[in-house]
Amino acid sequence: MGYFRENVEKIKGYQPGFQPKQADVVKLNTNENPYPPSPLAMDVLKNISPPQLRRYPDPLGTAFREAAGKVNAVPSDWILCCNGGDDLLSIAFRAFCDEKRPVAYPVPTYSLYPVLADLQNCKAIEIPFDKEFNLPSKLASTGAALTIVCNPNAPTGSFISVNELGSLADELDTVLLIDEAYVDFAEQNCTSLVKNFDNVIILRSLSKGYSLAGLRFGYAIAQPPLIEGLIKVKDSYNVDAVAIAVASAAISDQQYFRQNVEKVKAERSKVAEQLRQIGFEVPPSSSNFVLAKSRNGKAADIYDKLVQRNIFVRYFNLPGLDDKLRITIGTAEQNDKLLNALKEILSE
Ligand SMILES: *Cc1c(COP(=O)(O)O)cnc(C)c1O
Repeated sequence: MGYFRENVEKIKGYQPGFQPKQADVVKLNTNENPYPPSPLAMDVLKNISPPQLRRYPDPLGTAFREAAGKVNAVPSDWILCCNGGDDLLSIAFRAFCDEKRPVAYPVPTYSLYPVLADLQNCKAIEIPFDKEFNLPSKLASTGAALTIVCNPNAPTGSFISVNELGSLADELDTVLLIDEAYVDFAEQNCTSLVKNFDNVIILRSLSKGYSLAGLRFGYAIAQPPLIEGLIKVKDSYNVDAVAIAVASAAISDQQYFRQNVEKVKAERSKVAEQLRQIGFEVPPSSSNFVLAKSRNGKAADIYDKLVQRNIFVRYFNLPGLDDKLRITIGTAEQNDKLLNALKEILSE
């Protein structure tokens, strides 16, 4: 007999993207933002005072709730601070799912969802996307207690319209969580749905759009009854005092945020176009990465040859993904290094 619960004993756990130790690599594998965080956020970090660390943090992160409420045009009690978007996912599984209450989501998608389902010992109903990554209509009738749609989706970069997700929210009589970790790089978001539907939770992250993956900060937007239920489930001090202060400054600096997002989007068009020119199939992306399908159907060997050149992208050895590379959009210089290396590799 192992020490762990049977479901814990059985699972492998989430496999995070590789974090190389050397500084001189081109790191395009975990969808980090290549630009630094807001200088205003860095100033707040430099000026953290001893009392801020000596005392427990505000359990609800009121300063951040107010700042995020302003940015999203919702009252502050519609916001829940989380220790990264992943914390919200974990809270949601614990709040809504158990042996009798399954989760449902379209696949392929974020590989953390099945891990959380296993930990919670709940059934995961996985509905395959079609070739164009349209929203599967079956998702409305799974009977799941929690339905998750990652939008823009990872690792495909595809986007489902706000109207379609509104129809899904309307059809479901259980909770719809829309994982908008990448929405900063899309043209639309689902904030308007939260106002119309009491069963919708939106997940946001400061890891990608705000260049703060190391800080660990994300948040939920939902109507107050859902937020209040989630508060019962979260750790009492789930976000620390430094993170609340820095995240509040970062989200308040919308001008800097928008500049960075525009730079990433401009590079995304360039990278996608050049990948197509050298023979990859690249569907449109609403995220800070592209999913590039190799012509000869082999991506693992290209991945290995990039690693030999100290260039890291993400490769998933999974059905439907094993002929593709997920490439994070980096700085112009990083992207050029990647594109030049790919040209070399393909002409070998
Ligand atoms: C990055 C990401 C998150 C949240 O990440 P955090 O770093 O925990 O904020 C959630 N969902 C998806 C699909 C992501 O890619």
